[in-house]
Amino acid sequence: MCVGHLTRLRPKGAIRIYCKLSDPNLSVLSQTMAQCCKNIKETVQMLASRHKDIHGSVSKVGKAIDRNFDAEVSAVVAETVWDSPERQKYLSETIVEHLYRQGMLNVAEDLCQESGVVIDMSMKQPFLELNRILEALRMQDLRPALEWAVTNRQRLLDLNSSLEFKLHRLYFISLLNGGIGNQLEALQYARHFQPFASQHQRDIQILMGSLVYLRHGIENSPYRTLLETNQWAEICNIFTRDACALLGLSVESPLSVSFASGCMALPVLMNIKQVIEQRQCSGVWTHKDELPIEIDLGKKCWYHSVFACPILRQQTSESNPPMKLICGHVISRDALNKLTNAGKLKCPYCPMEQNPSDAKQIYF
Ligand SMILES: [Zn+2]
Repeated sequence: MCVGHLTRLRPKGAIRIYCKLSDPNLSVLSQTMAQCCKNIKETVQMLASRHKDIHGSVSKVGKAIDRNFDAEVSAVVAETVWDSPERQKYLSETIVEHLYRQGMLNVAEDLCQESGVVIDMSMKQPFLELNRILEALRMQDLRPALEWAVTNRQRLLDLNSSLEFKLHRLYFISLLNGGIGNQLEALQYARHFQPFASQHQRDIQILMGSLVYLRHGIENSPYRTLLETNQWAEICNIFTRDACALLGLSVESPLSVSFASGCMALPVLMNIKQVIEQRQCSGVWTHKDELPIEIDLGKKCWYHSVFACPILRQQTSESNPPMKLICGHVISRDALNKLTNAGKLKCPYCPMEQNPSDAKQIYF
């Protein structure tokens, strides 16, 4: 039906479209529309009934939160914890570092200005570079990461990192994605795999094998797993992990780790506080950097091994480090001094007699 026909049929003052149902095309259209309406109605009904099922549970969530959420959590923190300007400075610096890690450079600059924290450019620089490269990786641009990996090749190899190979591999795959037009370029790019031939032989064989299917499309070949899109997220993680290790930084921001640990520890701390208040036993909650009980935060939060002296039954520290005797037994330095008699030491375990100055400090 032409537009002119519609216009002629339109009565004055009203916008309407008249259909001649005798028209076979329109009859089909009308049937299709009716079917669509039916489908929509059914879908809406189905969604409504599903919604009804979950609505009961969802409506209870709010009440459950109110019942279980403790609005007053400041009670578990020692009031004086942020009193000194030095501690406030540490806190500001930690927040600024976190913001740099997240790539929120402007917010970090503003915080520095407002809090009076001065951040050394040498501390800022690695985060700026990491963020620039990560930003490019997220846009699927491998060049900045590749340049960085080539510059730091030896140091990455010393860390047993396969980052550079994985970047080249992904670049090669992006060429495969372009189809047969990229065949020559892909073949030429394969030269970059040469330094990794012995370590990643199998991976390289798979990449080269995929070239056979380039004409018919890798997505229809046994090599279609090469095109999986989650590889980009994976390469971002590998880059962050290896670059942080190379720069001597922790992979996760200390602020995030502290916050997550605090969230896990908070319920336990609230319980302890309650018990202490009920039993009125003061002095358990001290203002030292120590909690009254040990809280298990899971293996993810294990960072440092600890050594407790078997003689003094105390955890060793920087001022009282563990010392290895020549017989191989380890005790704390304080214990070693206490056991030394007239310049001689008798190991409390073997008991080998030895010169205490032969004992070596252990670092871990
Ligand atoms: Zn011994």
